[in-house]
Amino acid sequence: MKLFVRTFGCQMNVHDSERIEEIMVRAGYELALSPAEADVLVVNSCTVREKAWHKAISEAGRLGIQKRRRKEVLVVVAGCVAEQEKERVWKLVPVVDLVVGPDRYKELPAMVEEVRREGGRAARHGFDAGQPGDFLSTHASGKRRAASAFLTVMKGCSEQCSYCIVPSVRGPRRSRPSVDILGEAALLVSEGARELTLLGQTVNSYRDGELTFGRLLREMDQLTLLQRLRFTSPHPRFMTQEVIDCFGALRTLCESLHLPVQSGSDAVLARMKRRYTAEHYRQVAQGLRRGCEDISLTTDIIVGYPGETDADFHETLRLIEEVGFAGAFSFKYSTRPGTPAAALEDDVPEQVKAERLAKVHEVIERLSASARALEIGRTVEVLVEGKGRNAGQVTGRTRKNQIVNFVPKQRTVEELIGQLVWAKVRQALPHSLEGEEA
Ligand code: SAH
Ligand code: SF4
Repeated sequence: MKLFVRTFGCQMNVHDSERIEEIMVRAGYELALSPAEADVLVVNSCTVREKAWHKAISEAGRLGIQKRRRKEVLVVVAGCVAEQEKERVWKLVPVVDLVVGPDRYKELPAMVEEVRREGGRAARHGFDAGQPGDFLSTHASGKRRAASAFLTVMKGCSEQCSYCIVPSVRGPRRSRPSVDILGEAALLVSEGARELTLLGQTVNSYRDGELTFGRLLREMDQLTLLQRLRFTSPHPRFMTQEVIDCFGALRTLCESLHLPVQSGSDAVLARMKRRYTAEHYRQVAQGLRRGCEDISLTTDIIVGYPGETDADFHETLRLIEEVGFAGAFSFKYSTRPGTPAAALEDDVPEQVKAERLAKVHEVIERLSASARALEIGRTVEVLVEGKGRNAGQVTGRTRKNQIVNFVPKQRTVEELIGQLVWAKVRQALPHSLEGEEA
């Protein structure tokens, strides 16, 4: 039996898909290279914006075409759309057999078996209590792992940002016991991981009794084989001095942070229920730069939140310039069902949203190009991930998370994958750097 998983959405979903694959492999499945050869097809869906919801629904329908050739194929909708729509998924996409929410993946092998045996359909949704076993821990693989791995430290979200559907599809915040996190981290590095990215919706709100997120970072930094530590997504409200002080002080903690700001207008931030001000965000950015001058900051921006005026939007542009982001994901506000903002009129015209988005792109492009230009002539440490853009090159990322394609000196691509290699940057391209092994 073969499994194929199609993933949409954030890094947490990417990691969840790895967990789904591991659970199914442990239950006897093999991984298929394409939908055409799979017996179980999973769409691991995202619903954070309306567009993502549509993509997931249409992909489930598209994968369902495989059933025309082989009736026994099962189509599964997993993830946030599964939790949002529950049994309604069957009305939206009749070819779907199974619906499984983000906290129920452990049950997937039994669900598949049940439907194979008895026919019909199955759905599991709802949240667990966050007991130690409810976090799907990675098991020993006995094989060499990719150099970079994800590690869940908390799940769910108890913020109530007015526009956001995440709390209703991922449940309340639950922190994982630190012994389990450290145990999994030790396993991952022993199998070859050199970079770990700690995951959680408000990852820096992590707390296990007296153990704060800052303490957790310090504990992780003690892992001798670990070379790089990252985390995503932090919330500005939980950027305590203790966490800020870790940057520039911990050996493994990389000089880069993705810290979503959403807006630079205090009025909009207040209505979004973000519970910080633009000034707080600026202070956090300054604090980070005090301890770690060269830190690369990236962010998320929403344009066109209900009631956003031109003046509000200019505050956002001003903040982007002042902080000097090296990159950003920016989105047009889209109404999500059941969120507090859904009661508001989506009153910023589509064209204005599009113009604001284009303006944010323009400013971010300029800032990120100048961040890349600063690297020309520098020698940077690259964690090699694979073959590069052009023949003879390898690709990887720097500690600041910039992509570098470079020509190795003597070693082959295969020898370099997973290694930390120094490269001299010669050129900055629109989304990457180029150079040669130093
Ligand atoms: N937990 C993270 C983000 C999760 S969602 C955090 O709080 O930062 C990822 C991004 O999607 C958000 O940062 C936001 O920029 C965007 N987003 C969420 N809901 C949205 C909506 N209704 N419309 C447009 N963008 C949205
Ligand atoms: Fe959504 Fe806000 Fe939670 Fe992020 S912190 S997942 S934006 S509710």
